[in-house]
Amino acid sequence: MDHRLADDNPRGLYFLTDLVNTVQDGGGATPQGLEAVVEAHGGPPLRLTETTAEEVRQAAAVIAGILDTEDEGSAAEAINTLLDRYPARPRLVRLPERRWSLHTAPPHHGQPARWLLSTAALALALWLSERGHCAWGRCAAPDCDRYFIDTGRRAPQRYCSTRCGTRVRVAAHRDRGR
Ligand SMILES: [Zn+2]
Repeated sequence: MDHRLADDNPRGLYFLTDLVNTVQDGGGATPQGLEAVVEAHGGPPLRLTETTAEEVRQAAAVIAGILDTEDEGSAAEAINTLLDRYPARPRLVRLPERRWSLHTAPPHHGQPARWLLSTAALALALWLSERGHCAWGRCAAPDCDRYFIDTGRRAPQRYCSTRCGTRVRVAAHRDRGR
């Protein structure tokens, strides 16, 4: 499912997982590739250099570390540290065709990584407080390690996409048939 145009909720989190997955995949994490991810999610126009792109990749690694955390106490501590270091200065923004949502102030010139971390701190803090646990994870399918946001209300989500879930179910069915 493509969440990009569906809704702004959960606030900016699909942007974060998309960015972290892009950095993790490697190939697309060029300055232009990262700018494109931000733009695709309605973020501010960034003009990244090799240096600031590397800072963004390092920031993405920090965010990945939180998305790897399953213990809500540890996650809250890590998010609080980000909130302290990168205050979010939230403001209400209405992007075309979407409803009002909280965004962090656009990046100061030359500091896209700071903007990314303040955006992540705000989005993850709101999500953790709303859900009460680490409603995110990493795909359990073999050969896939993409991060996802768990929006389910019942069973915990295990796969990054229905595609991966189906792939695993089909493989299990095939194994049973042998
Ligand atoms: Zn997957």
